Amino acid sequence: MSVGQGPLDSTGVSCLSSHPMYAEVAVPVYVHQTFTYALPASFAASAQPGCRVLVPFGKQLLTGYVVAVHASLEEAGQEAEGIEVKEVEELFDTDPLVTPELLELTKWIADYYYAPWGEVIKCCLPAGINAEAETIVSITVEGRAALATTFAKRTQPSTKAQALALVAESGMTPARELAKQFNKARAAAVIRELEREGYVTVTRQMQDAVVKPKRQQAVRLVERAPIEGSKPLSEQQDRVIKHLFDAGEPIAFAQLAEAVSVSASVIRTLERRGFVEVFTREVRRDPLAHLKGHTEDELTLTPKQQAALDQITTKLNGGQYAAFLLHGVTGSGKTEVYMRAMRAAVEKGKTALMLVPEIALTPMFARRLRAHFGDAVAILHSSLSEGERLDEWNRLRNGEARVCIGARSAVFAPLEDIGLIVVDEEHEASYKQDESPRYHGRDTAIMRAARAGAAVILGSATPSMESYHNAHTGKYHYLKLDERIGGRALAQVEVVDMREVFARHGKQQVFSDEMKAAIKENFERGEQTLVLLNRRGFSSFVLCRSCGHSVHCTNCDVTLTYHKMEARLTCHYCGHQERVPRGCPNCDGPYIYYVGEGTEQIEALLKEMYPQMRISRLDRDTTRKRGAFERLLGDFATGSMDLLVGTQMIAKGHDFHNVTLVCVVSVDAGLAMPDFRASERTFQLLTQVAGRAGRGEKPGRVLIQSYHTESYALEFAREQVYESFYEHEIHFRQEMRYPPFVALINILVRHSDYGRAASTAAELTRLLKVADAEQALRILGPAPAPLSRLKGEHRLQVLVKTRNRRRAREALDAAMLGLKESGYDLRMITVEVDPVSLM
Ligand code: ADP
Ligand code: ZN
Repeated sequence: MSVGQGPLDSTGVSCLSSHPMYAEVAVPVYVHQTFTYALPASFAASAQPGCRVLVPFGKQLLTGYVVAVHASLEEAGQEAEGIEVKEVEELFDTDPLVTPELLELTKWIADYYYAPWGEVIKCCLPAGINAEAETIVSITVEGRAALATTFAKRTQPSTKAQALALVAESGMTPARELAKQFNKARAAAVIRELEREGYVTVTRQMQDAVVKPKRQQAVRLVERAPIEGSKPLSEQQDRVIKHLFDAGEPIAFAQLAEAVSVSASVIRTLERRGFVEVFTREVRRDPLAHLKGHTEDELTLTPKQQAALDQITTKLNGGQYAAFLLHGVTGSGKTEVYMRAMRAAVEKGKTALMLVPEIALTPMFARRLRAHFGDAVAILHSSLSEGERLDEWNRLRNGEARVCIGARSAVFAPLEDIGLIVVDEEHEASYKQDESPRYHGRDTAIMRAARAGAAVILGSATPSMESYHNAHTGKYHYLKLDERIGGRALAQVEVVDMREVFARHGKQQVFSDEMKAAIKENFERGEQTLVLLNRRGFSSFVLCRSCGHSVHCTNCDVTLTYHKMEARLTCHYCGHQERVPRGCPNCDGPYIYYVGEGTEQIEALLKEMYPQMRISRLDRDTTRKRGAFERLLGDFATGSMDLLVGTQMIAKGHDFHNVTLVCVVSVDAGLAMPDFRASERTFQLLTQVAGRAGRGEKPGRVLIQSYHTESYALEFAREQVYESFYEHEIHFRQEMRYPPFVALINILVRHSDYGRAASTAAELTRLLKVADAEQALRILGPAPAPLSRLKGEHRLQVLVKTRNRRRAREALDAAMLGLKESGYDLRMITVEVDPVSLM
C-alpha cells in the first residue's frame, strides 16, 4: 500500500464511505449468471437489491435488476485485478420494486426451472412499469462540414449520407426514426460508423415509463363564495352548485356535466366567477368498478366445510407453513371454504392470495371477494389494460389492497406478510407457463408459502396425480368434501359406444340417437344443456378422397383447421391462414372432404336439428372480444339460452342450477394424444364437465360418446370415483417411471435447419451422458418431438428422468457449458422442468 492513497480497509477498498461500491445485476436475457457493475457515487447511497438499473450489456443498454450490493470486488466473488468493471448508467428506483421475499422466490424459480434470473424478475413486475432506454443521435460540427463537402459531391447519396442528412434536419433524432427509414440492423451499423468518424454523437435517454398514472379533471366548490352584489346565478349554474353541495365531495368534470345536463361552458363560467374550482387529480383505474355495492348472504357452513375450515385456521393461527389438499367433489362448496379461510387470514392482520386457472374465472370470484373485502381486493391478470394492472399492483405494493386474486402470474403479487394462498383447480395445466420462465404457478405458490410461513390450500375435484400422491404420503394435509351441498347426487354418467351406432346406421354419425333424444327431451322439460367438444373450428382437416392428401400447415407438422364463418383454413399452433382450396392442392381432384368436426360445425348441426332451440357457442373464437365470455355465460345463467356448445371452457367452475344434461360429443382425440398425461387429462375433463350437471334441485345426466369405450379413463369417469382412477393410474406411472415417481426434464432443441437441430441434440445428449458418470439419470433420445415441426422449426427432444434433481441440474449445467464452449447456440435449446405435457 502506498502512502497518500487514503485509508483502506482489509478488503482493499477505500472506506471513506460506507456505501456499497458494486452491484450484482441480473439482466433479462438468455444467460444463467449475474454480472457485477460499479456503482457511481451518486447511486451508491440508494442502490439496493430489488431496484432497477440501466446497464451496458454487450452493445446494448438493458434494464436489469440489482440482486445484491457489495463493498468490494472480492466480496462480489471477482478477481480485483485485471478486469474491467462497467458502470451502472442509471438507477431507476430509490425504493426497491421487488421485495426481498419475492427476490428470493425468483431466485428459486431461476434455479429450479433453469431460467435466467433477470427474466424471472421481469416477469414478476407489471408490464407497464418497465422503462426503456432510447438512443438519441445528434450531428456534430464536423458532421455538418462533411455533409456540405465530402457527402455533397456524390450524385447517388449513400445510406450514411442520407442518415446524416436526416439527423442534420431533425436535430436530436431517436435511433428508431433512422431504423424506420432504413432497417434496424443497417441503421445501427450506420450510426456506429458515423459516431466513430466523429460526425454524430450518441446519447442515451430514458423513455418515460410506458404507463402513466391516469389523471382526470374534477370540480369542487370554493370554500368562500364570492362577495354579494355579483350577478345572480342562472338556473343551470344553480343546479351545478347544488349538485356539488349535495355530493359533499369533488366530482369528475365530465360526470358532473352529465349528471345535471349542462354544457362544459356553464361549469367554466362558474369557475371564472370564483364559485368552483377545476383541478386535476389522479384516479385509480378500477377493473372491478362495476361490482360496487354487491353484497352477499351469509351461508351456514355444513359440518364438513366447517371441519375443513377449522383445520386450516388452526394452522393459519400457528403462523407456520402448512399445505392442504382440499379434495371436494364438484358442487361440494369448496369456494365457501376458500372465502372463509381468506377472511381468517385477513382478520389476523395477514394478507391473502387466490389463484385461479383461467382469466375468465376471475370476475366470478372477484365479485364474491369484493362483497366481503370491498376495496381491499386487487385483481391481477393479463387481460386488464396495462394501466389497470399497474394501478392494482401499486395498491398491493403499498398495502392498500390486502387480498389479491388472479391467474398464474398473480403468484408474484407484491403482498407482504402473506398468510394464505389458495390455488383453485390446482390440477389445471394452465398453471404452467409455456414460455420462459417456464414455472408452474401451483408449485411456485407452495414454495412461496413455505418460505413465508403461510398456509396454502390446493383445491380440486380431480387432484393432479402429484398432489394426491403428496397427500397420500403425508406431505400435504388431506381434506375431503365428499358430498354435494344439499345432499344432491352426482350426475349419472352413461357412455355411448359409437362403434355400435356405426353398425346400426352403416355410416359414421356425429350424434348418436341416444344423444339426440336426450337433448330434445331436456329442452321439452325446459332445462338447459351443455355440449362439449374439445376442438374448435368447423373441421379439423381437409382431405382429398382421390389421393389421400390432407392440407398441412406450411410451418408446423399439423393439419389446418377449417373455419367456415371466416372461410379460412387456420393453423391452431402458429396462426397461419390459407384460403379454402377449390380442388385438391396435390392432385387437383374435385373430391375435397372436411373431416373431424369442431365446435363451429356442432353448433351449426344442432341449430339445423333443433331450430326452435336457442343455441350459442363458447370457445376461443367466440370470446375474443373483451366481455364476450361474461356476456355468453350471463345469457346462459339467466336462462335466455337453452343450449351452450363449447370447448373445455364450459367445463370449469360455473354453477348453473338449471343445467341437467351434459353431452360430450367425443374425447377420442384427447385420449389418443401421445402423452403420458392423456388419461389423467381426459378423466379430469370428463369429471369436471359432468360436475356441471344437476347442481340445482333436479338430477343431472351425462352422455359421453366414444369409439374407445374400453379406455380406463372413460370407465372411471363413468363411475365418478376419483380414488379408483388414481389407484389404476398410479401403477402405470410407477411402472413406466413417470411423475410423481421421477422428475422429468424435457429438453427441446429447435432449429429451422433439421441438420443443425439434430447435431446439437446429439451433442447435448452425449455431454449429458458424460456428465452423468454415476448414472443417476435416464437419458432418452434425442427423438423427434410429437409435434416435430412448429412455427417453421424442427423439434427434437431429449427426455431426462431422475429421482435426483440436483444431479440432473449439475449434468445439465455441465452439458450446457460444454455446448457453449464448442460454439453451439444455446438459444436453440429450451429446458422444461416438470413439463405438463410432452408434445
Ligand atoms: P365447488 O366449488 O366445490 O364445485 P361451490 O363452491 O360452487 O362448489 O358450491 C356449490 C353451490 O353450493 C353454490 O351454489 C354455493 O353457493 C352453494 N353452497 C356452498 N356452501 C354452502 C352452504 N354451506 N350452504 C348452502 N349453500 C352452499
Ligand atoms: Zn402452423
